[in-house]
Amino acid sequence: MKRSEARGAVAAAYRDLGRRGLIVGSAGNVSLRTRKGMVITPSGGDPDRAGADAMVSMTLEGGVIGDGTPSSEWAMHAAIYRARLDAACVVHTHADACTALAALNQALPAFHYMVGHFGGDDVRCAPYVTFGTPDLAALAVQALAGRSACLLANHGMILHARSLGDATASAVLLETLCRQYLMALAAGTPRLLTPVEMEAAHERFKTYGPRPAKPAKSAS
Ligand SMILES: [Zn+2]
Repeated sequence: MKRSEARGAVAAAYRDLGRRGLIVGSAGNVSLRTRKGMVITPSGGDPDRAGADAMVSMTLEGGVIGDGTPSSEWAMHAAIYRARLDAACVVHTHADACTALAALNQALPAFHYMVGHFGGDDVRCAPYVTFGTPDLAALAVQALAGRSACLLANHGMILHARSLGDATASAVLLETLCRQYLMALAAGTPRLLTPVEMEAAHERFKTYGPRPAKPAKSAS
């Protein structure tokens, strides 16, 4: 994919996440891995008005190629690309239900077999540190071990996927699961699936329905 095509694809995914209500204002960002690094949404971006020209090309070390100021969370995206060779794109949002659960500093447990879509028996919650810091990038990578998504305490969520289409679908799925879990918590004490039940679900995923993200080996 040429850099201009990558810019158009990132802008389209950014607008799509905005239309779905998962990115409101500048509270979220999208990137796509490129040969030289990544294309990422700009600092203070707005998905309602994001064109391909506003997207920023940069190296994974933080060097901007051309014009623009990248999202303040560029380091978290770059760290995921460096650590996870299976990550083709990254989506970070402050979507309502994900953020509400992250505010409880809780992982999304195996209350539903679809939690297995993200590669494990839960979606971890990385501890809180200040946004835009190298510490946050490191904690997110740690919480993503063997997973394609994690929550970020008192902040939101981040996930990676093999395509922008998959990333958007996964962002919608994670928001839906967090909302359903919070509804179950409000109504009572959800019964969680056992490790044996989740193992059976992971096996089923291999041959049936949506394919879960495979845990990938770390690059380092
Ligand atoms: Zn954020």
